[in-house]
Amino acid sequence: MHLKKLIAGNWKMNKTAGDGLALAKDVVAAVGKQNEVDVVICPPFTALESVGRAVEGSVVRLGAQNMHPEAQGAFTGEVSAPMLRALFVTHVILGHSERRSLFGETDAAVNHKVLAAFKNQLKPILCVGESLAEREAGSTLKVVQTQTERALEGVGADQAASLIIAYEPVWAIGTGKVATADQAQEVHAFIRGLLVKILGEPAAQRVRILYGGSMKPSNAAELLSQKDIDGGLIGGAALEARSFVELVKAAAAVK
Ligand code: PEP
Repeated sequence: MHLKKLIAGNWKMNKTAGDGLALAKDVVAAVGKQNEVDVVICPPFTALESVGRAVEGSVVRLGAQNMHPEAQGAFTGEVSAPMLRALFVTHVILGHSERRSLFGETDAAVNHKVLAAFKNQLKPILCVGESLAEREAGSTLKVVQTQTERALEGVGADQAASLIIAYEPVWAIGTGKVATADQAQEVHAFIRGLLVKILGEPAAQRVRILYGGSMKPSNAAELLSQKDIDGGLIGGAALEARSFVELVKAAAAVK
């Protein structure tokens, strides 16, 4: 099935509310009216409101980078799905490798968040991917399988159209080392096969699987033209309007 491509920007812990507003305005001016590619911007929590104002009335959607699975309560420093919804957030990145490795997020925690996202009508962008040591040990597919299956426990076929998976080899994130198109396609096809087992064939064909890891304008076209690569999750290249917009245009150009 041909899925509409999705380009999502993960700003990580970058941009104040004011800087984010300026960047989002530039993105909206360039790609806010086109309809060929879905575009999501994921600023830090503190810039969600200002970026939300900038994208209002455009095709650009607002995403968060994390959330707590509970709706409210004694969870100091955390932010919940209803709080994100109140700021017109539509997407949420979950299980990013930085959350897993730096903040101890387990597969079980990611699963709770995925279920909470669906319960609150947020579209999860579920990140999976192997470390360099795991790739070198030949366990890439096993790692991706475990992360995907555990994160999707309790998810039904009716939720597939709102589910987005990002395959992000940890060794390619922020390192400038990009997976080759063949390496990425192999894992994307494997994830598609897992989704067939978990959700059934028609639903699996509706899930968008993004590639993430040093994607930039110079390597995007080849990655995005692979059969099972339905878009990109972009870190570094999302911090400047010019490169991010070029990636959206590269996705639009892939037939
Ligand atoms: C990311 O962290 O999601 C990412 C893909 O980062 P970068 O594009 O900088 O590798």
